[in-house]
Amino acid sequence: MSAGSPQEWSPPSTWPPLREELRGIEPYGAPQLDVPVQLNVNENPYGPSAQAAADIAAAVGRAATTLNRYPDREFVELREALAAYLNTSGGIGITADRVWAANGSNEIMLQLLQAFGGPGRVALSFAPTYSMYPEYARDTVTEWVAGRREGDFSLDLDAARALVEERRPSVVLLPSPNNPTGTALPPEAVSMLCTAAGDGLVVVDEAYGEFRRSGTPSALELIDTHRNLVVTRTMSKAFALAGARVGYLAAAPEICDAIRVVRLPYHLSAVTQATALAALRHAPELLGRVDELRVERDATVDWLRGRGLEVADSDANFVLFGTFADRHAVWQGLVDRGVLIRETGPDGWLRVSIGTAAEMDAFKDALIQVMEDTE
Ligand code: PMP
Repeated sequence: MSAGSPQEWSPPSTWPPLREELRGIEPYGAPQLDVPVQLNVNENPYGPSAQAAADIAAAVGRAATTLNRYPDREFVELREALAAYLNTSGGIGITADRVWAANGSNEIMLQLLQAFGGPGRVALSFAPTYSMYPEYARDTVTEWVAGRREGDFSLDLDAARALVEERRPSVVLLPSPNNPTGTALPPEAVSMLCTAAGDGLVVVDEAYGEFRRSGTPSALELIDTHRNLVVTRTMSKAFALAGARVGYLAAAPEICDAIRVVRLPYHLSAVTQATALAALRHAPELLGRVDELRVERDATVDWLRGRGLEVADSDANFVLFGTFADRHAVWQGLVDRGVLIRETGPDGWLRVSIGTAAEMDAFKDALIQVMEDTE
């Protein structure tokens, strides 16, 4: 046999030469199953109207004629449009130099940890929390510290402050509303943790901010008060634009500037920028179903409680409910009946995204059947 033939060479068990701590790790991802009722990744169930879709397509068509050129690296027009939108959604006087955007708020978080985390630094959150945070920490070689939430998923503020003062994180990650529990943070908590964090950044992840109940303020109101506060948002949820991959943040201009050091050149494609700008011109329509989804969310909470289940209060477009001795069996029973929800959160709990009224009816019917079968 000739030297180097494939039969002769068997790869060492360490091939490919992946970082030690990444070996054997499954890539993150919610199951993408082809079932009729998809209530597992907190999308907006209502897509754009034909008119909005046509405008987005026309904008992308115009961008297509110049795709031989790199896009605007600083995406100035998009930053201006996002700042204007934020000022209609809890922000006051936010300007383009206080806005940064990337491919989904997932990329925003990664960039924040690339710039402000790293070896010898700590990122801190309070569990249960968004499951991607520890992965961004791992990928940026940042130490991950998770405090605990209370039984009702709120924060014990004294304990939270003590942990921040003890571990001195360079980034504190606070989803509000929290995923997977739906719990929003009161502004006093944000302010207290901004003070406790000193020079560390406090990132309030408002991916679901637009769904908050009336009377729950946005942390955007505090941007001028705390220079270490970063508020992140996304177009993936309320804005009904998950497929376009656009996330963004509002923070002090120095923070936006610092992220430019770690971003990839031209990270926001011309197609993405054109899509987001066209979608922002249709903001009232794309966001038009948010109120309806909030009503459906509150009705879902009541309905689940009426069935004797435990349900976390929710300011988001999803509801965490339980508890089940065998939550996987319940999840599977729902899938078998064409309804996909999410097996996430503490043991025994499940999370359902809020869909259309018809989808929620399908979910309720299926859950009644599954609960009867598993009783
Ligand atoms: N933050 C939270 C709390 C989320 O739940 C999600 C999506 N599930 C994201 C950020 C990221 O969303 P995207 O990258 O689509 O903006």
